[in-house]
Amino acid sequence: MSDGFGPDHLPYGVFSRAGGPRRVGVRLGDGVIDLHAATGRDDFAQPCLNAFLARGPQVWAETRAEVLALAPEAPTVPVADLTLYLPFEVADYVDFYASEHHATTVGRIFRPDAAEPLPLNWRHLPVGYHGRAGTVVVSGTPVVRPCGQRRDPGQDAPTFGPTRRLDLEAELGYVVGVGSRHGSAVPHTALADHVFGVVGLNDWSARDLQAWEYVPLGPFLGKSFATSVSAWVTPLAALDAAWCDLPAQDPEPLAYLGPGLTRGLDIAVEVEVNGTVVSRPPYSSQYWSPAQMLAHLTVNGACLRTGDLFASGTISGPGPEESGSLLELSWGGTRPRPDGRTFLADGDVVTLRYSAPSVTGGRLTLGEVTGRVEPAVC
Ligand code: MN
Repeated sequence: MSDGFGPDHLPYGVFSRAGGPRRVGVRLGDGVIDLHAATGRDDFAQPCLNAFLARGPQVWAETRAEVLALAPEAPTVPVADLTLYLPFEVADYVDFYASEHHATTVGRIFRPDAAEPLPLNWRHLPVGYHGRAGTVVVSGTPVVRPCGQRRDPGQDAPTFGPTRRLDLEAELGYVVGVGSRHGSAVPHTALADHVFGVVGLNDWSARDLQAWEYVPLGPFLGKSFATSVSAWVTPLAALDAAWCDLPAQDPEPLAYLGPGLTRGLDIAVEVEVNGTVVSRPPYSSQYWSPAQMLAHLTVNGACLRTGDLFASGTISGPGPEESGSLLELSWGGTRPRPDGRTFLADGDVVTLRYSAPSVTGGRLTLGEVTGRVEPAVC
């Protein structure tokens, strides 16, 4: 059985076989259980997970128990024979900036003369921006190098053309199942009432477009061209053994952010470029927890919808080979990696891998996120 996809995991995805309809399935080893065939349920005869996600925590738990019971005998289809799709229809997409090590290093790269690398607000709230839901793609989808305005060093005016600073951002995405009422805030204690599970996520970024456009309203076209997510959604129920205490927060955040309750996930990440591991960011080093990000996202009364996706921001640890972006690994493009490279070249293949402790004492392998860089078309 394929490592990390045992009965302690059971992640959900959407597949088709030989031109057949899309169906919801659960990964078990090297195979996939067709849940519509196995249960007859209509919410599994769907082209996405949303109908199932909307049913809520009780149905998620009952279904997990049912799948676990039928798993030993259930027929599976080899995953190699299937086409996998974006597992859920993305409603709204928000990306945070929750790693202290990432935000600090980026601050030092972009503002080397500043006394404090973090913005004044950073320790008081999880900084984020609204991304583009329609360009979230499933792992394996090629990523075309974007074109746009970028300003060369020392120049006042921009030029137009393909980005010269295409980057990856290794992140974890949270998939919302149950929505909330417009006008009400979701408390920091309610993560499991709304969030179904997690996906691996690569927030592809064009650093030169981003640097020119981001003042004063934040990221826009430098990030909206593509965001890749894994084909498999790992339910929070599979991650019971992965919760850990996050580093202490100072100053204590405001009450709605649940001070003192910073529980995060001990997920190990590997960033691979063209088959070589270039870093190993630890998600356990994040500053802001998923419950705090969810509470902050809704504290103004903004509602959640089924299919909402909110992501951690680039995951970076304290070590030199624990950074989740090439911006950091190359110190703003000034320090080439051992292969002589800084940012991504056409033809490069980026793969993000994730693993987490399992309740059985082993490790779960979360769905990988891979993508190949294609040449620009401008
Ligand atoms: Mn990001």
